[in-house]
Amino acid sequence: MRISWNQLIENIMQCDHCGLGKGCIQKVPGQGDIHAPLMLIGEGPGEQEDKQGLAFVGPAGQLLTRMLAAIQLPRERVYICNVVKCRPPGNRQPSPEEMQACIGHLRAQTALIRPKVILLLGATAVSAVLGPEYRITRCHGQWFERKGVWIIATYHPSALLRDESKKRDAWEDLKRVKAKLSELGLYQDLFEGENK
Ligand code: SF4
Repeated sequence: MRISWNQLIENIMQCDHCGLGKGCIQKVPGQGDIHAPLMLIGEGPGEQEDKQGLAFVGPAGQLLTRMLAAIQLPRERVYICNVVKCRPPGNRQPSPEEMQACIGHLRAQTALIRPKVILLLGATAVSAVLGPEYRITRCHGQWFERKGVWIIATYHPSALLRDESKKRDAWEDLKRVKAKLSELGLYQDLFEGENK
């Protein structure tokens, strides 16, 4: 039986399925439009996210906001979350065991939101959602269809901050997201600005 949204948030807040919960300030379930046709999935909370209890609010989050704005997409119209809901110490990558422990929350979120399109941000999200055999460098910009949901990956904004040369590829990936939403007839609902 599908749980309610409130139950899901409560489950995350009470969760002790892995050690990350003990080291963080607070859980970061994610935020945005819970009826959004587009869901973004990143890796895990960083320092600012841990402090504020919100996903993608640090420097990488600010870049993500600008990236979405570049395709005329206000970030409050999408849902943004991470594979793990607690900050890994020192912003390290979550281990496969930690990802596995938290994946049930992400699956429950996805089942409740029922997005039409999912944008994976970075290698951890690719590994958790598509599988560990997929590599971000090879699969970014490609469409995968899973149970009626269109899934695409691009580089994590943190990676773009570290390596500006990846920005061109990320821009092409984002344009594919915009095109897919348009193809699915969701463009009018989501986009604002001169193209609306
Ligand atoms: S990271 Fe996920 S599984 Fe681990 S304690 Fe936090 S909510 Fe629970």
